[in-house]
Amino acid sequence: MPVELLGKSADELRAFVASLGEPAYRGGQIYHALYAERCLDLAAMTNLPAPLRARLAEEARITLPRIVRRFPSVDGSVRYLFSIGGEDAKPAQIEAVFIPKEGRQTICISTQAGCALDCHFCLTAQLGLIRNLSAGEIIGQVLAALEENREQLAPQTNVVLMGQGEPLLNFDAVMAALLILLDPNGMAISPKHATLSTSGIVPGIERLAREKVRPKLAISLNASSNEQRDRIMPINRKYPLEKLLDACRKYPLRPWEHLTFEYVLLGGFNDSPEDARRVVKLLANLRAKVNLIPWNPGDLPYEKPDAARIEEFRRILTDKGMLAFVRYSRGQDVMAACGQLALAEAAETPPDVAQLQV
Ligand code: SF4
Repeated sequence: MPVELLGKSADELRAFVASLGEPAYRGGQIYHALYAERCLDLAAMTNLPAPLRARLAEEARITLPRIVRRFPSVDGSVRYLFSIGGEDAKPAQIEAVFIPKEGRQTICISTQAGCALDCHFCLTAQLGLIRNLSAGEIIGQVLAALEENREQLAPQTNVVLMGQGEPLLNFDAVMAALLILLDPNGMAISPKHATLSTSGIVPGIERLAREKVRPKLAISLNASSNEQRDRIMPINRKYPLEKLLDACRKYPLRPWEHLTFEYVLLGGFNDSPEDARRVVKLLANLRAKVNLIPWNPGDLPYEKPDAARIEEFRRILTDKGMLAFVRYSRGQDVMAACGQLALAEAAETPPDVAQLQV
């Protein structure tokens, strides 16, 4: 069976080429063509001699996730439903979202198919964990989304690991993908433009802290007390707020960096002024930024928070000197918003853009 090249590091590509009896430096050339030039066709890698290209056509392959469906949103973002696996890995469907904005595009990608963590506000949780993605399947989502939108790309690409799955529970593959995504000789995405979002896996945060190359870190907080967080994020029972915030305090931030705390405002559940005051206390002494994300109405039993309450929540934080922003998710009409990925297709009821507009 041909060897999959996507997801391999420069060293792995050099070793592979050497195993074919070719000079190892050719592996570096493949690395550059594949990730820096985004050349996805071995036959078109003209920096390689023709006989090697012919050999690679037999011995190797580059497999992008296959686009099953596109769900364009009225706000310009596109949700992609991808199919992965099949030949040598369990078949699965995953999603990514392409979000264009002036001067840049943001690509939200999945790191697992489904998720084991059961956050109660998240539709992906209802799938359960199907499997971990490989480094190639993680990078492939970025490449496929860039390829699809080749004609309209802005100079800057942001990548957010906020799609299906908990990235820190697939640490090795996620790190292998990030090393290529953030490599100036690879896909050259700036660490300032890449964000990994976690539900709060403390050992994973501690491990990430030791990595030389790493993205920015976002923590999905969503509650102002353990009692409240236990109710919507069962992972909190394993890593309660004290442990989580202790790991955050020890996390070595770079001079330009803030920790981001995502706080989905669930109307009537965690959006009161008392909640805001507790969040201020929890995040004291942290170089933090809080993104308040008003709940997107969906199938789940939470309400859209009231506009006045959202503003009051934000003001309580900013009055105490915290950076706090209200973020309205893009792509809500195609279920591309935070925590909404995944289910529509699984349920075989593809969203009708017109019906889902909110
Ligand atoms: S919010 Fe993230 S960690 Fe929680 S169930 Fe959904 S995908 Fe998993």
